[in-house]
Amino acid sequence: MSDTTRRAFLGAAAAAGASAAALPRDARADAGSGNAPDPLLSGKELPTFKFELEKSRGKVSGLSFGKEATVEQLPISKGMAGVSMRLAPGVSRELHWHANAAEWAYVVEGRCRTTVIDPGGGSETNDFDPGDVWYFPRGHGHSIQCLGDTPCHFILIFDNGYFSEFGTFSVTDWLGHAPPALLAKNLGLPVEAFAKFPKAEVYFTHGKAPPEPAVLPHQGKFRNAPETHKYRLSVEAPHSVHPGGREWRVGQDKFPISKTITGVILELEPGGLRELHWHPNADEWQYVVAGSDLDVTLFGSHGRFRVETLGAGDVGYIPQGYGHSIENKGKGVAKLVIAFNTGHYEAIDLSAWLAANPDYLLRDTFGVPEDVVKQLPRHRVFLASKDGPGAAEPNPPR
Ligand code: MN
Ligand code: MN
Repeated sequence: MSDTTRRAFLGAAAAAGASAAALPRDARADAGSGNAPDPLLSGKELPTFKFELEKSRGKVSGLSFGKEATVEQLPISKGMAGVSMRLAPGVSRELHWHANAAEWAYVVEGRCRTTVIDPGGGSETNDFDPGDVWYFPRGHGHSIQCLGDTPCHFILIFDNGYFSEFGTFSVTDWLGHAPPALLAKNLGLPVEAFAKFPKAEVYFTHGKAPPEPAVLPHQGKFRNAPETHKYRLSVEAPHSVHPGGREWRVGQDKFPISKTITGVILELEPGGLRELHWHPNADEWQYVVAGSDLDVTLFGSHGRFRVETLGAGDVGYIPQGYGHSIENKGKGVAKLVIAFNTGHYEAIDLSAWLAANPDYLLRDTFGVPEDVVKQLPRHRVFLASKDGPGAAEPNPPR
C-alpha cells in the first residue's frame, strides 16, 4: 500500500466510524471476495451449481475411491469443497493434513476409525458409525481406517473450495522426498532403513482390519485432545419436524471444536419444500444421499434465476447471500447432507421476512389487494409439505 493509498484508506475508515481495532478485519474483507464482485457470478446468467459427483471417477484403488468436487469440477464452489470416499475392508486413508482447510465428515455407511493430532500434542482415536460426524481443524494431522469386514462410505466437506490442489499433505509423499540422511538424523533409524519407504504418495494403505477396540498408540498411552472431534448427529432427535420433512443440525454450539463448519441432515418427504431463504454468513454445500428429482433454485439478482435438478450422488452449491430453495419432486423421501462454512448457522427465510413487515407495505410492494396479503403466513414456514406451509411449530428452531 502506498502512503497516499494508505492515508486515503485510513481516512475513509475513520469517516465510516471504524475503530482502530476493526481496521485489520475491514482491510481483509476488502481484499477478499466479500465486497468485490466475483467474475464468475457477475455474468448475465448464473453458472451451473451442480456436479454429478458419484458419476465422476476420482482416485481409485481396488474397491476404494475418493471422488472430489472442488473448484476444478465445480467452479462456483470457491468457498467449500467435498469428497465422497469409500474404503474397502483393511484400507486406510493414509496420515495427512490439509494446509488450507478444515475437514467435516458424515458417515453414510459402514464403520471407520480416525486418529487426529492437535498442535498441543493431544490426539484422539474415535470409531464412527453411520450418521456420526467428525471435524478436524485446519492443518491437524489425521488418518481414516475402515473397520470390520464391510466397506465404509463417508462424505468429507472442506471450508475451502481450493482444499485439494497443493493443499493436502501426505506423510508418504513427504518422507519419500526428504533425504534419507535427514530422516535418519530425525528419527534415529539407519539411513538404509529409509530405502524401503515409499518414494511417492501412497494415499490408500492396505492392511488387515484394525483391532477392536483400538490399541494403544506407538507412544504407549492416549493423550486425549481437550475437545472431542466426534459428534453423533443421527442419534439425537431432529431439531425441526414438519409434515414436509425434518432437519438435524450441528454447529459450534453443540460441537465446540467445529468452529468453521455447521452440518445439517435434511430429509424431505415427497412434495416437501425447504422454503426460499438465504444465509447471510456462509456458503452452502449440498450432497444428495438419497432421492431423485430434487429441484434446487438459485436467485442471483438482476433477474438471474436458475434451477438444477439433483439426484442421489449429486452435489449442489449455493454462494453466501444467494436466494435458494430445495423441493423434493421425486417419489421417495430425499436425504441431503448439507454443510455451511461457519460454526454459527444463520438463515433468513422468505415467510419470516414477509411476516416481519406491515401489511400495507406488502400490499404496495406486490400491488395486490389487502385480503391477499392477509393470507400470507404469519410464522416462519421453514419446511412446507406437498399441501403447503402448514401451522407454526410450537418451538420454532432458531
Ligand atoms: Mn483429510
Ligand atoms: Mn440453505
